Amino acid sequence: MLDRPKTREGWLARAAALTIEGRAFIGGSYVAALDGATFAKISPIDGKVFAHVADCGEADIDRAVKSARAAFESGIWRDADPLVKKKALLRFAQLIREHAEEIAILETLDVGKVIGNSLAVDVPFCANCIQYYAEFADKLFDEAAPLGARDVAMVRKEPLGVVGAIVPWNYPLIIAAWKLGPALVAGNSVILKPAEQSPLASLFLGRLAKEAGLPDGVLNIVPGFGEKAGKPLALHPDVDMIAFTGSTEIGKLMMVYAGQSNMKRVALECGGKSPHVVMPDADLDAAAEGIAWGIYYNQGETCHAGSRVLAHSSIREALVKKIAEVQAAKIPLGHPFDAGAQLGAMVEERQMERVLGYIALGVREGARIAHGGKRALAETGGFYVEPTILDGASNSMRIAQEEIFGPVVVVIPFGTEKEAVSLANDSIYGLAAAVWTRDMGAAHRLSRAIRAGTVWVNTYDRSSLATPFGGFKQSGFGRDRSPHAIDKYMDFKTIWTHYR
Ligand code: NAD
Repeated sequence: MLDRPKTREGWLARAAALTIEGRAFIGGSYVAALDGATFAKISPIDGKVFAHVADCGEADIDRAVKSARAAFESGIWRDADPLVKKKALLRFAQLIREHAEEIAILETLDVGKVIGNSLAVDVPFCANCIQYYAEFADKLFDEAAPLGARDVAMVRKEPLGVVGAIVPWNYPLIIAAWKLGPALVAGNSVILKPAEQSPLASLFLGRLAKEAGLPDGVLNIVPGFGEKAGKPLALHPDVDMIAFTGSTEIGKLMMVYAGQSNMKRVALECGGKSPHVVMPDADLDAAAEGIAWGIYYNQGETCHAGSRVLAHSSIREALVKKIAEVQAAKIPLGHPFDAGAQLGAMVEERQMERVLGYIALGVREGARIAHGGKRALAETGGFYVEPTILDGASNSMRIAQEEIFGPVVVVIPFGTEKEAVSLANDSIYGLAAAVWTRDMGAAHRLSRAIRAGTVWVNTYDRSSLATPFGGFKQSGFGRDRSPHAIDKYMDFKTIWTHYR
């Protein structure tokens, strides 16, 4: 293996040498869209076209569904020996690791995240997730119900059939793996629809799955736009479930599509506006670290980014200063292929404009820019926004209620613990939250009172495959990660036998 490049130029040369596959992966082969349509993939790093991707539509989705259905009904994967499934999925995980550098480059070119994180986080987390679920292949037991001596009722868990996984662009590989791992180990066939902004690393997975021994049709990857490819997948009468991650607005459409078609199952992981509650006795250095990394990591394009800071009035000013210092010292903005950059490009121009629009809106609403606030690195042609703090906000402002999905944190003062809980819960979202205090009684009270799928205490964004992840309220339902995630890709069947 070649040594890892150490400079921007070195990485760009490595990227230029890649052969990029932009066709759909259906039935075990890469294929063009049936009508031959493609779309240009622009890199947010420099605003230039670097690939062309199959612009799939209804006919391509139908082709993928037929392939997935045929594989499912053949039983080749569903009924395979658990050890066969485990071996294939473990090999799949291993191949992802072996191709880490190519996959990481594709991820960075596609979405603008820094290469160090693509390599250290996105690719290994994807592989680890596939491995985690592979290990369940021979550990999923059915049940026998407690009945009288002449009856035996097996309670079997069976795969649902064909699963459509519709995913966003912020963590394309990780979120795809959160769906693929449990859906595949449960015995389903899957059609993955990556976001139009981020198809390339996902498409690369197709050939690795095949090489690992997944039978043709068990995993299909169909790139394209939401309306053109995602909608026909979600409306398809022969798809049994949609596992969706994305915005709350589109998540709601999934429920409509399910109702309009075949009442397919829907699991939704949607948006967030996650609060930090910083109490007056908090360790402010630790809180500032947690808040800065929690909002600036991945350019703030993180569903559970801690984007609302509820700061006790007595420490607000000091905290704001410390958040800015942590960002400046430890989370520098830079070209994603530069060594040391921690915060890269926004995924696309539209997203950059949206984030800048929210900053301007915040100022109009009466908040104050305490840090950042502008476009950056415009000379690269790419789409960068300075890490920003909007201080002196109130929770009723749009910047405090709507998901900005960028490196912008909104700071809101509070007076009492009761007020903090009420502000924290005054949101349509309930994905995550954090509580910063040295008083364990307050930590306990607050973490129970805040309605969110994850509440961190004196830390932020620590995660494990062993813990469920997902939201309360309009952040969705159904959970990714942990053994519980497998259940949503299976259904119970009772097989009752009576002995005479
Ligand atoms: P999005 O909702 O615009 O798109 C998500 C996916 O849905 C994409 O693949 C897109 O092509 C597809 N889509 C769009 N319109 C569709 C339609 N009409 N029918 C079918 N499919 C359609 O979201 P995004 O901008 O890609 O991602 C950002 C959002 O994702 C944020 O709201 C973020 O909070 C959320 N998110 C949530 C989690 C979580 O686990 N809760 C994780 C990551 C991102």
